[in-house]
Amino acid sequence: MSANADPIELQKFSDLAAKWWDPTSEFKPLHEINPLRLAWIDGIAPLAGKQVVDVGCGGGILSESMAAKGANVLGIDLAEKPLKVAGLHKLESGVMLDYECISAEDLAAREPASRDVVTCMEMLEHVPDPAAIVAACAALAKPGAHLFFSTINRNAKAYALAVIGAEYVLGMLPRGTHDYAKFIKPSELTRFCRQAGLNVREIRGMSYNPLTRVYSLGADTDVNYLIHVTKD
Ligand code: SAH
Repeated sequence: MSANADPIELQKFSDLAAKWWDPTSEFKPLHEINPLRLAWIDGIAPLAGKQVVDVGCGGGILSESMAAKGANVLGIDLAEKPLKVAGLHKLESGVMLDYECISAEDLAAREPASRDVVTCMEMLEHVPDPAAIVAACAALAKPGAHLFFSTINRNAKAYALAVIGAEYVLGMLPRGTHDYAKFIKPSELTRFCRQAGLNVREIRGMSYNPLTRVYSLGADTDVNYLIHVTKD
């Protein structure tokens, strides 16, 4: 077990793993945002032929979709069950990619400067030391690589929408999915990136309209947001 992992967090994702590919399950939000984030990534760093690592891949929703675009993808996670589900799902879908149970830090030590694209989505808010994950992602990146992170902002609105709204009012996520104290402000994430030698290119907000039930990318980074950085 990596020192930079919270066993309770990993257990939460393992307990739900069987439902990972059920688009009506607790993972519905990940299914719904996936086309948006995939198109954003592919628009910036066309994925075909790229060496990609997806850190904290879970059941592989993003990993598999990047592989389907022609990328050579390794998905890594520290929860065994979601990785098993990911491995079974790729057999079903016939998409070629690899999964491994290894920490970002250990993979970076084994395969430094090896990837053209590094993704780490909806994961930093679940780890004890997110800055160390960002640094490991930077170490995994080749010079010139593109890195993409997403997480949840920390403010009253994010608490209201991502915790109270999503978990208690709308019931979109199981209660206890998110720990407000671990949410990360864009200013903090950009600092982690700069400290890791990465250049911040763009920050995009991701908003959910509970009336239309549609997600969209835009300027509002108050709650969910994504960041594009490069290793120059
Ligand atoms: N990135 C995926 C899954 C997000 S859910 C997606 O956006 O579709 C968060 C994932 O992070 C879970 O699979 C959980 O097991 C994983 N995770 C939590 N802590 C981790 C750590 N320290 N190292 C690797 N993965 C971790």
